[in-house]
Amino acid sequence: MLRIKVVCTLGPASSDRDTILALVQRGMNLARVNMSHGSREDHAQTIEHVRAAAREAGKPVAVLVDLQGPKIRVGELDQPLELNIGDEVIVAPEPIAVQGEVPTTYAQLAAEIAVNDTVLLDDGLLEFRCVRIEGDRTVFEVIRGGLLKSNKGINLPNVDLKTPSMTEKDLQDLDFALQYEAEYVGLSFVRKAEDVVDLKRRVGDRALVVAKIEKVEALQVIEEVIAESDMVMVARGDLGVELPFQRVPLVQKRIIQLANYHGRPVITATQMLESMIESARPTRAEASDVANAILDGSDAVMLSAETAIGKYPLQALEAIVCIGSEIERSGFLERGPRYLTAPGGLRTRGGASIREHAIAAATVDAAKQIGAPAIVVITKSGFSARLVSSYRPSMPVFAVTTEQTTFRQLAAVWGVHPVLAEDVEVTYEDLSDFGRRAVLEAGVGEKGASVAITAGFPFHKTGSTNNMRLDRL
Ligand code: PEP
Repeated sequence: MLRIKVVCTLGPASSDRDTILALVQRGMNLARVNMSHGSREDHAQTIEHVRAAAREAGKPVAVLVDLQGPKIRVGELDQPLELNIGDEVIVAPEPIAVQGEVPTTYAQLAAEIAVNDTVLLDDGLLEFRCVRIEGDRTVFEVIRGGLLKSNKGINLPNVDLKTPSMTEKDLQDLDFALQYEAEYVGLSFVRKAEDVVDLKRRVGDRALVVAKIEKVEALQVIEEVIAESDMVMVARGDLGVELPFQRVPLVQKRIIQLANYHGRPVITATQMLESMIESARPTRAEASDVANAILDGSDAVMLSAETAIGKYPLQALEAIVCIGSEIERSGFLERGPRYLTAPGGLRTRGGASIREHAIAAATVDAAKQIGAPAIVVITKSGFSARLVSSYRPSMPVFAVTTEQTTFRQLAAVWGVHPVLAEDVEVTYEDLSDFGRRAVLEAGVGEKGASVAITAGFPFHKTGSTNNMRLDRL
């Protein structure tokens, strides 16, 4: 029972019914559809396949609809443009760009950029420096050249962009996500906590919000962003363009550490097994990167192009599972995540009270002391299960819930084995019996073994983890 969770991005290489079923059977916990690519019709079909595959495999699988956000791009070029160091390039808004100019989707570029600001294109492969502004047009000098193609991304690392956090397309994609009951909605290019608050207000309790950390501005207020989010993603693709690449490793560790501390599940994403787009085996460096992301305390690791457009989507997932199993067998994770030391010990964080933290921490500690093979958490919204998981117990957490949505959402949380309690009386006795039976049926513990059970009373009130009991299987 792997405790690290795996996110697979589904795309042309993996959106057919059979491949999705194979991914579910091999351990995909969270299926990501990336709204930056493909049509809504295609994504709808993909989500339907995920739902059907999860039913067939009898496993909870969550869906993450990842909104494109205010991504700035190069428009359509007649043909790729060869650019050399020192060349002068004029960038103009798409509707007014003429032959020889580079069109951009961002009409406000000239209004918001300043002379000497740097612009990175195509994942940082090309670099321009602003030399002057002429009305709606911006004139750049090429600092790092190359072949510029249509639709490539443009990053403006130090420019304070005024663009809203969600575009018209994002709003329509959000309606789509909610219509298809996505368990998670991803917000790209988060700059401040209010961006997350705004999306959460639109979503209500219909989905959880994943804040993608890929902007320097978000790093400057990272604790506020994490505290407002339901989950965070270390989105290393854009992060590694917005920041000098050498800063990415420590920033990754810092985000994970803070997310652990605030009890927020965290996904480490992008280029984890990049060479597997073309090759059936990962490089040693990639295997190390995945292992280190797990050791850093990630709840989940994500495959992007490897599963979306790569030649070996199943092998890429299998590689993650192999690496995860090896790390989890090693006992290295038993040391738990490296919490930041909180002055004065426990304090309210991540929306949970000191009492709730105390119960979760005590449950994990007691389970260890009594040699429990599992912890049972009775949870309606998933709150208690996420809190217990954030203390990284060395035994699996069986999260018993009566809610379908919670059942699928918890599939993405480290160490949590969601159990759907259908046709069960909503009483402590019945739900805890159900949980204990699930532990036995999973072959995790033997009859009579001690087990720690935690729950919040009353059941209908979410976020009230206030009870811990030691019982037997
Ligand atoms: C990233 O930038 O790392 C990321 C996950 O976002 P996207 O794939 O949408 O660019």
